[in-house]
Amino acid sequence: MIDLRSDTVTRPTAAMRKAMANAEVGDDVYGDDPTVNRLESMAAGLLGKEDAILATSGTQSNLMAVLSHCERGEEYIVGQQAHTYRFEAGGAAVLGSIQPQPLDFEPDGSLDLAKVAQAIKPDDFHFARTRLFCLENTQAGKVLPLDYLEAAEATARKFGLGFHLDGARLFNAAVKLNMPPHAIARHFDTISICLSKGLGAPVGSLLCGSKEMIKKARRWRKMLGGGMRQSGILAAAGIMALEGHVGRLQEDHENASFLAEKLSELDELKIERALVQTNMVFVGLRRGDPIALQAHLRENGVLINSGDSIRMVTHLDVNQQDIEEAVEKIKGYFSNG
Ligand SMILES: *Cc1c(COP(=O)(O)O)cnc(C)c1O
Repeated sequence: MIDLRSDTVTRPTAAMRKAMANAEVGDDVYGDDPTVNRLESMAAGLLGKEDAILATSGTQSNLMAVLSHCERGEEYIVGQQAHTYRFEAGGAAVLGSIQPQPLDFEPDGSLDLAKVAQAIKPDDFHFARTRLFCLENTQAGKVLPLDYLEAAEATARKFGLGFHLDGARLFNAAVKLNMPPHAIARHFDTISICLSKGLGAPVGSLLCGSKEMIKKARRWRKMLGGGMRQSGILAAAGIMALEGHVGRLQEDHENASFLAEKLSELDELKIERALVQTNMVFVGLRRGDPIALQAHLRENGVLINSGDSIRMVTHLDVNQQDIEEAVEKIKGYFSNG
């Protein structure tokens, strides 16, 4: 199967499994796991922050951040389609009594800063207190420009808001910009990164920030059931991901660009090539049905995500030859139907 549903489908490499098997471990709830400690300081260093904490998932890491920034009855400004709002089962509301204030993303994946400023509630007992501003980078594969981040940070500071980045794919953004990850992270108070997406680790995310924020997050992680014990086994894979799999994201970007180029030659498909900036390709259909296309591809050994539009994601476990094969199968659907 050529699996283009998501970059979460990658499997740990043989070297990663070996590192996991040989990991030096201790009880991380006691702070005794040397491999977890190494991963956390490595992540903090890469992002230019004081501290970091390993979480079970990006959902948990983002939730720890929102809970650490906001109290009950406060709110966070977030994208309508953002993972931290739409795809995390309402955790901040359920577990923190924290209200989201969603706003539509602009076509480039940013939030309009004038609309953000307008959404901030005045200090009046009718309103929830606006406390936090969240962005996502990459957002649907799109990279937020550095000058936008600077302006967004200025907005957050002006209104006294915390500033969090859901950086599940921060490294894709950094590779695309050809900048070190801290050039992006420096604008934010807290950043969540995923090891389990394009970086290819089986499990794990990290929340990075100041010592004070990470101390708060550590209490929330315990409460959320994320205090793991000999988690060095997982951290060992994470270290390999950060050491060995960041630079190669460039290949995923090239494969996505190649896929977009090939698909743009098909009259039946609509594709905005300018939006294919990292490892994701979104495609609309001029003819045929996305669900039928998905079923046809599944029968022919290619997995894709399908809904209003079709999403294909490149990653560690697909190469250019796989992409060529997937393109042929897509052509096959249109020539038969
Ligand atoms: C995948 C993802 C997360 C975290 O997801 P988990 O599956 O909980 O690790 C967070 N934000 C974005 C944008 C994501 O794509």
